[in-house]
Amino acid sequence: MKEKILIVEDERDIIKMLEYNLKKEGFKVISAGDGEDALDLAVRGQPDLILLDLMLPGMDGLEVCKALKKESKAAAIPIIMLTAKGQESDKVVGLELGADDYMTKPFSVRELIARIKAVLRRVAEKEKLPEIFQAGDLKIDFAKISVTVKDKPVELTAKEFELLRTLLAAKGRVLSRDYLLDTIWGFDHAMEIQTRTVDVHIRTLRKKLKNASKYILTVKNYGYRFEVEG
Ligand code: CA
Repeated sequence: MKEKILIVEDERDIIKMLEYNLKKEGFKVISAGDGEDALDLAVRGQPDLILLDLMLPGMDGLEVCKALKKESKAAAIPIIMLTAKGQESDKVVGLELGADDYMTKPFSVRELIARIKAVLRRVAEKEKLPEIFQAGDLKIDFAKISVTVKDKPVELTAKEFELLRTLLAAKGRVLSRDYLLDTIWGFDHAMEIQTRTVDVHIRTLRKKLKNASKYILTVKNYGYRFEVEG
């Protein structure tokens, strides 16, 4: 089965170039020229991934991202944003809205394809998780993206939730800081985001999880492991 990619972009030349290269890689490709078409095609076409340009006529890319995440039939579809230089703040907002990764134009097609494959791999890992995970006082509902400890809701940011989900998907295995950084923040973001970002997020995540933080173990000088004691 070949994965289907939805390209959301108003520039014909870029769509053509992406279509050509993605098809060559064996992907199926559909495209939309504006936000409304994108929402419609995301729901009807059920793509496996959306490449979303932020500069669109009418509804801009961030609005499209927000609308996609609100639409139950599209919310789970991963999104890679295409941003222009100088849109750094949009990129941060987009990631907080639930986009999975971004690329700044002009980008290398090879790198974009590598990122698409990385995001699709991550999604496949996630699909192995049960819809609801429970251990002691901790309950995680992956469908609702909600976490409770002793039945009290825990407010997590998108990144904190992603961190928890990634650790849980690898339950029992140690994940290095670099792996977590690559997986959750994207592989070459090291210039802006340092490995200690992982530690900072783990710290806030543990604080929010209170006594359920005991499941997240630190592996000295390496990384973290999610462990439910026997
Ligand atoms: Ca555009």
